[in-house]
Amino acid sequence: MTDCLFCRMVSGEIKPDTVFEDDKVLAFRDIHPQAPLHVLIVPKRHISNLNELDDAELGGHMLQTAAKIAEQQGYAQSGYRTIFNCNDDGGQTVHHLHLHVLGGRRMAWPPG
Ligand code: 5GP
Ligand code: ZN
Repeated sequence: MTDCLFCRMVSGEIKPDTVFEDDKVLAFRDIHPQAPLHVLIVPKRHISNLNELDDAELGGHMLQTAAKIAEQQGYAQSGYRTIFNCNDDGGQTVHHLHLHVLGGRRMAWPPG
């Protein structure tokens, strides 16, 4: 999808600050970080949101990638948060599935 921001990153048309990549996912730093670590993990195939995720292995791979990045970046022990925002009430603004990985500060609960 050429009009999708994250598809344009996957294709290389836009170059994000990549922290991890394999054949299934691309992970890059959020342009407006909400914590010292704020990475987005996106599937290379366009999937609009969590409602449209049709591949449990891919979903599991995204979560395992989050844990791997947290470990590599030094946040596994101090802790981190993973978030899928879905549609308007979930706060989703980019309609290509992405998993937020945030760490490096104490997270509030419940979320605002
Ligand atoms: P959402 O609100 O959809 O869950 O998250 C979308 C995220 O994408 C936001 O945290 C936003 O800061 C990030 N974002 C939006 N545009 C860009 C961009 O051009 N580059 C990067 N790296 N992140 C972006
Ligand atoms: Zn897309």
